[in-house]
Amino acid sequence: MRKGTLFVISGPSGAGKGTLVSMLTKSLDSIGLSVSATTRSPRPGEVDGVAYFFLSNEQFDEELAQDGFLEWASVHGNRYGTLIREAERTLAEGKDLILEIDVQGQAQIKQRYPDAVSIFIEPPSLSALEQRIRARGADSEESLQKRLEAARMELVAKERYTVLITNDDLETAAQQLIEVVMSYRD
Ligand code: ADP
Ligand code: 5GP
Repeated sequence: MRKGTLFVISGPSGAGKGTLVSMLTKSLDSIGLSVSATTRSPRPGEVDGVAYFFLSNEQFDEELAQDGFLEWASVHGNRYGTLIREAERTLAEGKDLILEIDVQGQAQIKQRYPDAVSIFIEPPSLSALEQRIRARGADSEESLQKRLEAARMELVAKERYTVLITNDDLETAAQQLIEVVMSYRD
């Protein structure tokens, strides 16, 4: 069985990671997205076990105590982590695995899996990022400001990534992402 490649995708909130990853997984077979655990509340329409596993702080602590995370980090005031059992399930099927995680998580994965391919999705500008977060309509003004502040710091980390994709035109960026993943297949 072909051994899957581990891809880490990061970028500021609102850069378009979720949109691009969904276009990628619809376009290619043999690729799986790890569903992370988080202590943040679900946004309207987000289903438990699909968008995230929504955990209480106590449940997250329990996972931590049982060494259940491949990596985890505090982002925008909530905790997020990749569950080892979720990641292993996809890799055991011989599929490529995508972790859509923040820059702190990428640093942990880089230590643990030096062969992982990291892809940074950047917005064309900070003002475009703000417009996208507003257009998504899911964040309060406070949450929006937190995300914009974090974006400035996250953008500095883009140098640590294997591949940089600017998500200006959506179709172009999606095609670039698909080509990157394809380039690691035989
Ligand atoms: P992330 O997962 O990085 O937080 P999303 O995928 O939720 O970002 O995208 C944020 C918003 O921006 C969504 O409303 C999405 O439809 C929109 N969006 C994504 N890519 C583009 C693009 N290239 N041009 C314009 N809007 C975009
Ligand atoms: P959101 O709340 O917008 O869904 O995600 C906020 C941030 O958390 C994004 O930067 C996203 O990549 C990051 N994130 C989501 N899941 C994980 C995870 O499992 N681990 C880490 N380190 N970050 C995550």
